[in-house]
Amino acid sequence: MTKGVWTREPGSGDNGPAPGDEIEALAKRHLLQPWESLEHLGQSARTVLDRAENIYLYDSEGNKLIDAPAGMWCVQVGYGCREIAEAMANQAMQLAYNSPWYTTSGPAAELAARIADKTPGDLNHIFFTTGGSTAVDSALRFVQFYNNYLGRPEKKLILSRQSAYHGSTYLSASCSGKERDKVFLDFAGNLVHHLSSPLVYRRPDGMTEAQFCDFLIAEMESTILEKGADKIAAFIAEPILASGGVVVPPEGYHKRTLELCRKHEILYIADEVVTAFGRLGHWFASEEVFGITPDIITFAKGITSGYVPLGGMAVSQKVMAEVSGSDAKGAVYSNGYTYSGHPVSCAAAMANMDVIEKEGILEHVRDITPYFQDKLAELDALALVGDVRGAGLVGCVDCVADRKAKNPLKLDSEVGGRIDAHCQEKGLIVRPVYNMCVMSPPLVIRERQIDTMVGILRAGIEDTMVDLE
Ligand code: PLP
Repeated sequence: MTKGVWTREPGSGDNGPAPGDEIEALAKRHLLQPWESLEHLGQSARTVLDRAENIYLYDSEGNKLIDAPAGMWCVQVGYGCREIAEAMANQAMQLAYNSPWYTTSGPAAELAARIADKTPGDLNHIFFTTGGSTAVDSALRFVQFYNNYLGRPEKKLILSRQSAYHGSTYLSASCSGKERDKVFLDFAGNLVHHLSSPLVYRRPDGMTEAQFCDFLIAEMESTILEKGADKIAAFIAEPILASGGVVVPPEGYHKRTLELCRKHEILYIADEVVTAFGRLGHWFASEEVFGITPDIITFAKGITSGYVPLGGMAVSQKVMAEVSGSDAKGAVYSNGYTYSGHPVSCAAAMANMDVIEKEGILEHVRDITPYFQDKLAELDALALVGDVRGAGLVGCVDCVADRKAKNPLKLDSEVGGRIDAHCQEKGLIVRPVYNMCVMSPPLVIRERQIDTMVGILRAGIEDTMVDLE
């Protein structure tokens, strides 16, 4: 990969960025950021970033930081990839936009075909959106459309899980199960039922992992029987619950939940917004890692390595066949976006996939995964750490008040945020989630860089332990 598109020194030249404190002041005054604390509106400091290269971010003062979360689990090929930047620029000059209602473009059609080739089974119909939330929203609306069309308007309920995160549109947020994201907001609660989180670490006392799996499956089945299979439209599941704290379900869980869905004619939506495009070493994780072929897969983030927004869903041939063809008179899936299949986003995704293939990035992730997971696991010896878990190039360090009793820390101790602050002083950005730190680095990371990353994380945790004494 050719690196070094943005090689300018931070702050240099007349056209360089405004000094960091000026940017920070403007942001505090005018920029309402996602998950902004309104208690501290206009006060919350954010690191002002100036540029990035490979796995490194440079802030406005020129400090170099390893980007442990790869932005928000998305910068797969790393920063400064010339191929993607050039593909976007060329496409913008050739055809910057086309209406997806009554025209199409080479990049959208070619990308759809290329994704259909990578998805498991017969998930051949690709619908493009503007990101992950709209991908999930589109899948949920498609499921409503599907059951209404088939004459079963009562089949509406969505099964989701506690701790899940599916996005920030009204419907996708309603499926999310993170309680802290629900404060002062309304949700389509009547449309969603949340099952238990499959977090093995927090399984009921005395249960083995296998018994915990049985428990989760029994809970799902009894919920289906209690509510009635004729009322339940779909089960939505991240293969690994990412933002909820990198929850890797127990062995066999995916296959058994799919079996229940098949038995009760419930559609299975795999939300692969985080796990697709290489995070677990494959284009999609559902089949290759967990051995299942869902009915619908949602994706976003890694499809463009975050260079430009794009998301989408893949729907199976079987499901599409039930709602299309000569019998489907007047049936229109009235769901779409001005930017569905945006040619510049699709060109970026094509270039991103080229780079992933050319650089052997999927193979690299599979090769380096044991090293990454083993290094992270070493942190389990620290007194503040209750659990270290993960899969592929995603991991999480879960901090607790008492290792033996697994007592959670008070949420307002904000241990994740403290660790992140200490790490930033030492050259690493981590993603704090309550009292957890999530790591999902760019997929191009090397062993030496993993050593540095985990070494700084260890020091950040140790500093935090001193703070808490
Ligand atoms: N689904 C999952 C599993 C996610 O992790 C996210 C975002 O983190 C979303 C959906 C929402 O994606 P976006 O932020 O692109 O709307």
